Parts: sequence; C-alpha cells; structure tokens
Amino acid sequence: MSKHSIDRRKFIKMAGIGGMSALATGEISYASDPVSKSAKAKIAIIGGGAAGVSMAARLKRWLESPDITLIDPSQRHYYQPGFTLIGGGIYGPDDVYMEQKDCIPAGVRWIQDSAISVDPDKKTVETAKNGSVPYDFLVLTPGLVLRWDMIEGIDEASLGAGNAHCIYCHSGAIKTRDAMRKFAETGGRGIYTDTYTKHKCGGAPKKMCLLTEHLARKNNKRDALKLDFYTASHELYDVPYFTPRLLEIYKERGINLNTDTRISGIDTASKRVRLDTVKGGKILKSAWESYDFLHFLPPMTAPKFVAESGLSDQSGSHAAEGWVSVDKYTLVHTKYPNIVSFGDASNLPTSKTSAAIRKQVPIAARNLISLIEEKTPEEKYDGYAACPIITDYGHVLMCEFDYDKKRKGSFPLSLMDMSKESRLAWMLKVYALKPIYFYGMLNGIA
Ligand SMILES: Cc1cc2nc3c(=O)[nH]c(=O)nc-3n(C[C@H](O)[C@H](O)[C@H](O)COP(=O)(O)OP(=O)(O)OC[C@H]3O[C@@H](n4cnc5c(N)ncnc54)[C@H](O)[C@@H]3O)c2cc1C
Repeated sequence: MSKHSIDRRKFIKMAGIGGMSALATGEISYASDPVSKSAKAKIAIIGGGAAGVSMAARLKRWLESPDITLIDPSQRHYYQPGFTLIGGGIYGPDDVYMEQKDCIPAGVRWIQDSAISVDPDKKTVETAKNGSVPYDFLVLTPGLVLRWDMIEGIDEASLGAGNAHCIYCHSGAIKTRDAMRKFAETGGRGIYTDTYTKHKCGGAPKKMCLLTEHLARKNNKRDALKLDFYTASHELYDVPYFTPRLLEIYKERGINLNTDTRISGIDTASKRVRLDTVKGGKILKSAWESYDFLHFLPPMTAPKFVAESGLSDQSGSHAAEGWVSVDKYTLVHTKYPNIVSFGDASNLPTSKTSAAIRKQVPIAARNLISLIEEKTPEEKYDGYAACPIITDYGHVLMCEFDYDKKRKGSFPLSLMDMSKESRLAWMLKVYALKPIYFYGMLNGIA
C-alpha cells in the first residue's frame, strides 16, 4: 500500500488530526489530490526540519510524479516548541522527538548529510560527504544557527555551568528544568534575557520567566525570588493587541522589566552576566550583574553557507545575520526564481515559529509548482505567525498576528477575548499542537 493511500486506522488518525487542526486553527487541508499532473522537475530540499519535511510532504501530495531529494544530517527530528515544556517540567525529554527516518515521507530520497554550499548558477548543492547534488528547483530551509560563539564565556556543551541555562537545545532544556525547579525552592536573583538578532520564538524566554515565578508561588517561596527580565528590544512585545496584558502580567507578578539591554558575556565561575545597554547601535553602558539563576538566549544567524553562496540579504539592519532573501509574499528568492525559502532561515519579517511555517508551506508549494509549470507564482503569504505565551501552569496568551502586527485569530479562539490568557489556549498548547505537528504538518495535511 502506498504511504498516502488511506486504510481505516489511518483514516481515523487523519480525521482526528484534521478535527484537532480545524479546532485549533479554523481550517483543514487534506489536499491529497494532485495539484499538478504536468509539473516535472528535480527538486532538492536543504534542511528537513519543520519547514523542509512539511514541504516535502506537501509536494508529495500535490505532484503526480515528484522527484524530491532532501538533504539533512539529523538522526532525530525535534518538535522544538516542546523544549519550553521540558524546561517547565510539563513534557518529559523523550516527548519531543521522532526518528528523522520516520518523518521523511516515503518516496523522498534522503541524503543524510550537510549542505556546504549552493551554486545557484550551476544549480547544484555541494554536500560535506556526498558530493554534488543537481537540482532544477531548490527549497532552502536549513533553519538557523544558535551562535554560542557570540557570547563570551559559555558554549552549548558548558550550558548549566554557573547555573546559566538555555532551553533552545534539547540537552539545555533538560538541564534548565532541574535547575529552575531548584531555584524556585531555594530563591535568589533570577536573570532572564532574549537577544538582539532575529531569533526563533521570541516568546520562549518570557515563558521561562513566568513559569519560574508561578513555580515559586506554588512552593510558597515567591518572596525568596527577585526576577529581572532584560530584553534587547525597546519593548517587551510589539503586537499591540497583546502587549498591554503581557505588561500587566509582568507588573502583577513583580518581575522587573529592562529594555534595550543585551547579554554579551557570562562569568560562570562568579555567576555574573555582562549586560550592555545599547541605543542607536551604541553601547551606552556595560555592567556585570550577579545572578543565582540565569536563562539567556544566544544570538542567532542563518547558516554561513547561505551568505557564502550569495543567497542572503545584502542590505538592511539584519543583513549581517545572513537570512535568505525572499519576496515576503510569494516566498520566492529575490534573485533566483527557481529557489523558494521560508521558515527560520528566511528573511521573512515575521516571527520565526513553526506556526508561521504551517501557513508558509502551502503558499511555497503552490508557488513552486507554478514556477515549474512556467506560470507566475500567485499565492501570497500574509505574515501569519503565532506564539503561545505560557503565562502560568494552566494558562496561555495565544498571540496570533500578521505582517501588520494585527491580530489574526483562528477559530474557535476568535470567538473568545484572546487579549487575555486562557485555559483553552493552554489545552491547545499542551495537548493538541504536538500531534498536529507530527501527524498533520509533517504529513502535509495541516
Ligand atoms: C525553545 C523553543 C521554543 C519554541 N516555541 C515555539 C512555539 O511555541 N510555537 C511555534 O510555532 N514555534 C516555536 N518555536 C520555533 C520553531 O520550533 C521553529 O520556528 C521551527 O522549528 C523552524 O523550522 P525550520 O524548518 O525553519 O528549522 P528547524 O526546524 O530548526 O530545521 C532545520 C533543519 O535543517 C537542518 N540543517 C541545518 N543546517 C543544514 C545544512 N547545512 N544542510 C542540510 N540540513 C541542514 C537541521 O538538521 C534541521 O533538521 C520554538 C523554538 C524553540 C527553540
């Protein structure tokens, strides 16, 4: 039986995912009929994360005779939004991944390797160990790189030293969970930061701070904790519909908020963090602050080979970060019309989240098929992204918005006052979004 033919068990599973997806998002898209019978081309996908695997699955469904090669070195496929839930002690470490071989759709050729360069003129991808891969059309979705090297005094392997933590990798999330639990018992000063580069899930550091605060309250230890949140931005959150409530929550919980401040170094031996106040690109003040528990974010950039292959933004305030340059509506490369890119690696001016990718995939797939058929790509992405900000153990402020930073609600949440945190959004976050991701998105049906 082919992977996409439907037996009874699969039908029940898909109906369940479809139902959950419809409940969570107000829409459902099985779309198993081929969109194109005529489109035939050699398609290479670099990166098999949320974006790459979902795209492979979509193209498999929509093309009658797909010829797809996916290049990705990973053994495991992580559901990264679950890292926050590991850090908060809600998910276990094994709840957030599947074997990559079980995520890549049947019939897609998997080269388990890293791309090291792209020659967009010759239409080839150079891999680390498997030579050159030719393509007619390229999907460039290698995600982003956590730049531990851009913070002095720590790297991924030494996370946890001096009680300095970060949930942005699996091992880091596990260490954070244990340390945060202890800190919420023993107390002291907790410092939380984000970072100044474009980064994935801007909500995650805010969530960790709020979860610590609630954990301490549950332990009757809140008075023993002083909590400081430092953001590199001018404000805590920049989507006007949600910002007032978020600010109110920080105030109600007694968390001190500091803006325009970035972390540049950590001295794990003395448990001190260097915080730079930056305005107009200039460092106004640099000070070492003592902490007992630190949760920080490293700067993030696109993988180096993107810029080295001439595929990144050449101007703009984030050009140095090397994001793939695409049209923000069609997701087609600004210079090479046989390349599409979206997800974390792209320069799309919206929040880097898998919720955004779920909306980007069908647009990118349809436009790619149009290009293969030598038609104009006409589908347009509106910038939709979502960030479920966990405000305590039991509530989530479900922030959904578009390029204009206008609220873009999805059913049934659109029936409720979503400017406030809710129990329903918590249920969605904890119970529904992960199965929608693994069985819906990665199968090209949600
Ligand atoms: C702590 C945390 C919390 C988050 N919370 C949320 C949330 O609540 N909601 C939400 O929607 N999103 C959330 N996100 C963001 C979301 O997980 C990402 O936006 C999403 O995973 C990005 O998908 P991607 O495919 O672009 O990149 P990734 O999923 O990171 O995948 C990139 C893939 O490319 C591969 N790759 C890298 N370099 C190469 C190369 N040179 N050659 C070939 N392959 C390569 C990697 O192995 C990887 O498989 C969170 C992320 C984190 C870290």
